[in-house]
Amino acid sequence: MKEYKLLTPGPLTTTETVKKEMMFDHCTWDEDYKAITQNIRKELLELANVDEEEYTVVLMQGSGTFGVESVVTSSVGPEEKILVCSNGAYGERMAQIARQAGKNLVVYNEDYDKVPNAEKVKAILEEDAAITHVGMIHSETTSGILNDIESVGKVVKEAGKTFIVDGMSSFGGVEIDIKGIGIDFIISSANKCVQGVPGFSYIICKKDALMKCKGKCRSVSLDLYDQWVTMNKDGKWRFTSPTHVVLAFSKALEELKAEGGIPARAKRYRENNKRLIERMGAMGIRTYIDDTHQGPIITTFFYPESSKFCFEEMYEYVKERGYAIYPGKVTDADTFRIGNIGEIYLEDIDKVCDIFEEFFKTHC
Ligand SMILES: *Cc1c(COP(=O)(O)O)cnc(C)c1O
Repeated sequence: MKEYKLLTPGPLTTTETVKKEMMFDHCTWDEDYKAITQNIRKELLELANVDEEEYTVVLMQGSGTFGVESVVTSSVGPEEKILVCSNGAYGERMAQIARQAGKNLVVYNEDYDKVPNAEKVKAILEEDAAITHVGMIHSETTSGILNDIESVGKVVKEAGKTFIVDGMSSFGGVEIDIKGIGIDFIISSANKCVQGVPGFSYIICKKDALMKCKGKCRSVSLDLYDQWVTMNKDGKWRFTSPTHVVLAFSKALEELKAEGGIPARAKRYRENNKRLIERMGAMGIRTYIDDTHQGPIITTFFYPESSKFCFEEMYEYVKERGYAIYPGKVTDADTFRIGNIGEIYLEDIDKVCDIFEEFFKTHC
């Protein structure tokens, strides 16, 4: 098989050194391994720029969705109600999780190319006093839009509600003032901006909000509180952990630090994204999200005007030349997506744009 780099928003291209960490079969019960887990939890708190007095970290087996499901099903009690602000597939997924778990739920749907509006959230909260929790997505990977968690968080906190943020494709790659916004739970996973491989999610939890989760979850494996109780003792996971993934993630955290932490990584991603949009724009390819709200992680582009254009053909063409891109996911337009996170640099962006240029010349 020919190798290629991933221009997808996770799993993403990781370094050789991260991949190499997985060449060892680590046992799970000894002090070494538990120390690795504890160190990961400590490093994540540092990255989040929050202190141990107020916040704690829980690692949860499974992909990112398992983390979101763990938080929603563990935090919203039977007498409580969650408002989900949605402007894409991941917002809809959060709502589906709440609905299927039988939680009291209200959904505020916004168009895919617009951000959830803080004034509207405020009005919904004023109208429906039963709402106790508000959930939203930060970087909606469906479109690439970066939602305004600051302004929504402000009205959520002023109303005294619990704030849940799906920071899956932003944490580690976008600076987030978790403490300042007052986020109670923020979820991400190993294979996104920290640049590890898939296999677990992690949740940065405000301790007082986590304590209220005790006894609420109707799932054994996704119980956030129980997972924390065991893990917090000495770093032991409740059930079998993805050992290879944990080792790789630990290395990925080291490499994130060496790069200069979140500010440096965020800068690289922003520069990649800016170059990508500029060069595609020069080819006449427009973005689905406007400049103001376009996030730095992944970009949705409209198909070119040409009637000869075929996405599958372009996908194969680009893949043969070393890059895997992503189909569109928005429901109201013909689009494709290009992620610019992972072990991706300006030279990759330039290379892939040269390939697009060549493709459009010869196939459109
Ligand atoms: C990747 C992602 C998820 C999790 O998806 P999984 O397929 O379960 O890893 C959730 N929300 C957002 C915004 C994402 O980008």
